[in-house]
Amino acid sequence: MKIAVLAGDGIGSEITAQALRVLDVLVRDGLHAEIEHGLVGGAAVDAAGDPLPEATERLCAGADAILFGAVGGPQYDGLPRAQRPEQGLLRLRKRFDLFANLRPALVYDELAHASPLKHELVLGLDLLIVRELTSDIYFGQPRGIRINEAGEREGFDTMRYTEGEIRRIAHSAFQAARKRSARVTSIDKSNVLETTQLWKDVVTEVGREYPDVTLVHMLVDNAAMQLVRNPRQFDVILAGNMFGDILSDEASMLTGSIGLLPSASLNAEGFGMYEPIHGSAPDIAGQDLANPLATILSLAMMLRYSLDQEAAAIRVEQAVRLVLARGFRTGDIAQAGESTVGCRAMGDAVVAALGD
Ligand code: NAD
Repeated sequence: MKIAVLAGDGIGSEITAQALRVLDVLVRDGLHAEIEHGLVGGAAVDAAGDPLPEATERLCAGADAILFGAVGGPQYDGLPRAQRPEQGLLRLRKRFDLFANLRPALVYDELAHASPLKHELVLGLDLLIVRELTSDIYFGQPRGIRINEAGEREGFDTMRYTEGEIRRIAHSAFQAARKRSARVTSIDKSNVLETTQLWKDVVTEVGREYPDVTLVHMLVDNAAMQLVRNPRQFDVILAGNMFGDILSDEASMLTGSIGLLPSASLNAEGFGMYEPIHGSAPDIAGQDLANPLATILSLAMMLRYSLDQEAAAIRVEQAVRLVLARGFRTGDIAQAGESTVGCRAMGDAVVAALGD
């Protein structure tokens, strides 16, 4: 198995280094995996004038999975759009048709107090957002800003989904639900938007192929409210690109800790890119302050979804639980008065816990 590692910018190299130490332990214990590093984002702009150089694209095309750190930084903000670090990420998603974005939101018992919601509402929370990533109003044409007949500026976008696009993301959600608590909540705005009426119809059709999974349809406005009223009612939330974008940020805050949340973006062949949901955190980069756990948990998702190594995935996730139970905290998840460790020491703790 070949893993392309794209560390990117800011804290990217620090957090991926810790995930690779975890991978080293697994390899020592018999996992067959080879890694190769590639440039992406601002680092690639600096070296090659392109946020996704051809060499990186080739490396990824020849790999079984991509481990991605983060891209971006204030020094690149003035560049033309095509050269911005974030374009490297968007182009990778498009190039490999990574349409299924999986974002688990899990509240660890030890960190339930870090949530802005009441402790008793989030304790034990474990949900998975399955967001469509390559279509919807973000990609629909036509779009633009024009002068209308009244001589006024008018902005417009096109919300569009094909039946096939809905069908394949729905299958991803139902299959994921089968490995969890077998409940899918599909999000739409079918009372107002035609595109989402089609979404609802197609999801219902796909749902008939999964009689063992309970399907509930929910309007997006209600879902936004239910996520803070009673988040534990959800198991898998299935959403289009825009609704999924908004709801997944809301759901991530339920856990109270951006440095802990991993993600996977998969295509139809199971090829995937795995990355923490946070950015390059330039404010703490190079200071050994970053929390590497989101990246280590992204590695666990890679083991599960692209490399078919469920036992190894569980081993990594249990090691993370153990270090949290033992009280290891980076600054982002520490409460007032708790002592903190750095990025590398957190990696040390996970590596040690893998042996327990
Ligand atoms: P950010 O996620 O980088 O940081 C937000 C806050 O969270 C910062 O205070 C940061 O220090 C903290 N933080 C983030 N990750 C952390 C970690 N692992 N451990 C401890 N603290 C952590 O978001 P931002 O500041 O809005 O953006 C910074 C740069 O990252 C921008 O250039 C943005 O475009 C880019 N970005 C990239 C991605 C990506 O690569 N997928 C995602 C979001 C933002």
